[in-house]
Amino acid sequence: MQLAERPLGYDTRFGGGWISGVLAVAFGVLGVGGVLCLRFPALLTTPDARGYYPLELFRFLIHLFLVAAFGLGVLSVVLSRRGRLGLTAVGCVVAAALLGGSQVPIEGSLESPRFLGLDWFLLNILVLAMLFVPLERLFARLPAQGIFRPGWLTDLVHFGVSHLLVQLTVLLTLVPAAMFFRWAVHPAIQHAIASQPALLQFVEIVLVADLSEYVVHRLFHAVPFLWRFHAVHHSSESMDWLAASRIHLVDAVITRALAFVPLYVLGFSTGPVYAYLVFVSFHAIFVHANVRFRFGVLERLLGTPKFHHWHHATTPVDKNFAIHLPVIDRVFGTYHVPEHFPPAYGIEGNPVPRRYGAQLVWPFSRR
Ligand SMILES: [Zn+2]
Ligand SMILES: [Zn+2]
Repeated sequence: MQLAERPLGYDTRFGGGWISGVLAVAFGVLGVGGVLCLRFPALLTTPDARGYYPLELFRFLIHLFLVAAFGLGVLSVVLSRRGRLGLTAVGCVVAAALLGGSQVPIEGSLESPRFLGLDWFLLNILVLAMLFVPLERLFARLPAQGIFRPGWLTDLVHFGVSHLLVQLTVLLTLVPAAMFFRWAVHPAIQHAIASQPALLQFVEIVLVADLSEYVVHRLFHAVPFLWRFHAVHHSSESMDWLAASRIHLVDAVITRALAFVPLYVLGFSTGPVYAYLVFVSFHAIFVHANVRFRFGVLERLLGTPKFHHWHHATTPVDKNFAIHLPVIDRVFGTYHVPEHFPPAYGIEGNPVPRRYGAQLVWPFSRR
């Protein structure tokens, strides 16, 4: 289903100005966001990532996005005779031009004690949308579920906030392990583990991390106080790549911090750990996607959309807690994957509010 029968009054069929309007706004936001990163790099970009950026390519892409936003914005207004999307996109282009455009020089010190990960947000939303939007359109498990299904904006805000606050969430993920588990570190064990081949370490990390995620995840379901935070993730009634981002900040930080403890204590090398971070960020999103892929025998080995969709089913509840390895659920008796996909997602009675701000405070409120 679309956002509404006629979202914002637009005819969503090809030629009605809706597609060009949506693309124009997306390109406009990416363009003006990119210019903001160039204009205020100390405040709006991630220090560890800056050194890797191909700056000239980024400037060229920003330029392309702004030109496309302008062209598609005007086209949308002409086709639809409505201004909301087209004028928003043109507004982004004007703002980007006033800020100096794609060639704005990088000036001033890059030193700043605090920053927002606007670069991290823009890059991730661009790459993930380019990957998952076509996948979900071409291989949809529910073809009638549009990109702008109910709750998409709430999930986009979750996505945005968690990426903008990357400095805080990374700190809260890494620091507890070093603060409370330094005593458990043994140099000889760490040396033995880090000396193994990188691929073997990677497989071990997937196993170790998923075991701890399994335990923490079950606790979030079993302990009523913790469930109130995790219920936010389960409140999605539509499953797609964006629904993966609907995670309360407290849930995200506690889960990641505890999953990181054994990796820290065991002392895996940085390369395999980074490879795991790339793998988990893709796999955790993929298992939520609205896709109908089947994987044959691989389904027994690795978590699939169907496996995790059953975790989000309205009934039965408390199944499939692992993310990567379904075998963990088989061992602990929580595995449940019938032939078909679940008929409905969410929590019986819909207790969780729908808007982002309300979802953030809801776990702390009195029942
Ligand atoms: Zn869960
Ligand atoms: Zn999930």
